[in-house]
Amino acid sequence: MRAQILTAARRPLTAAELPAPRPEPHQLLIAVRACAVCRTDLHVVDGELADPKLPLVPGHEIVGIVVERSEAPGRFAVGDRVGVPWLGWTCGVCDYCRSGQENLCDRARFTGYQIDGGYAELTVADERYCFAIDPHYGDVEAAPLMCAGLIGFRALRMAGDAHRLGIYGFGAAAHIVAQVARHQGRRLFAFTRPGDVAAQHFARSLGAEWAGDSTAPPPEPLDAALIFAPVGSLVPAALAATKKGGTVVCGGIHMSDIPSFPYRILWEERVLRSVANLTRRDAEEFLALAPEAGVRTETVTYPLARANDALDDLRSGALRGAAVLVP
Ligand SMILES: [Zn+2]
Ligand SMILES: [Zn+2]
Repeated sequence: MRAQILTAARRPLTAAELPAPRPEPHQLLIAVRACAVCRTDLHVVDGELADPKLPLVPGHEIVGIVVERSEAPGRFAVGDRVGVPWLGWTCGVCDYCRSGQENLCDRARFTGYQIDGGYAELTVADERYCFAIDPHYGDVEAAPLMCAGLIGFRALRMAGDAHRLGIYGFGAAAHIVAQVARHQGRRLFAFTRPGDVAAQHFARSLGAEWAGDSTAPPPEPLDAALIFAPVGSLVPAALAATKKGGTVVCGGIHMSDIPSFPYRILWEERVLRSVANLTRRDAEEFLALAPEAGVRTETVTYPLARANDALDDLRSGALRGAAVLVP
């Protein structure tokens, strides 16, 4: 099968012809229809996440069709369409797994990081961590739901019932979260790279009542802020924009260092927290909510062979919505 593989960090992906993977117990063999490109892939390729499997097939926002399964019957049958997310396997016995926090499992394994992912024609995945996808979504359109959607949704939930919601970094996750937040009746304030008028316009088109530079204060204090851009200096900016008792949620897996800041912008019971990975419950809830909320995704498709171009476009901030590879 054709694949795009990472052989060493900080190197471009290379095209490879690999043997078709074989499904082991609990696994499905999946013909990849679409695989979205996540900023986490960029962190893996750029060496910002330690110790990936090497060589690695990246990609953890996979939509495909089951072509074979290890044993029958199971959750999915040959011919079913499934989505494969970042959470690829958990131990089921550690304190986190037993307390509804499998996203923090001590021995968790992640798709496109410790397990080969979807930048390929075929992949295998443990069916216990795969999901059915609403038939209203096309393959390409559904792919960004599998991480930008899921982890964005988990971040949104951490914001509680915040009415005035700020979003810092208006990329793939933000453009999905914005639609869910509007569906829930929240007011939306979008912060982009200074001067990125196109991103600000994009945010307004998705229901933001205000969109401006991340260095500017919002027109009124926020009840909560979600940070999706991997930029540490946004943390004090978001705290300063958030009202007493408000919450700032860091939604990414990696961020540049956070500069020191005066305690007074955290004081008054502001909460600063991060979000890590996803639970299967997050996925089930979000995948049921997305069609109900009318979530649509904006995508830019690339043939699999152009995976490096998709990563470059994500790195440069030029994308509106999500990049999706099609084998
Ligand atoms: Zn565990
Ligand atoms: Zn991701």
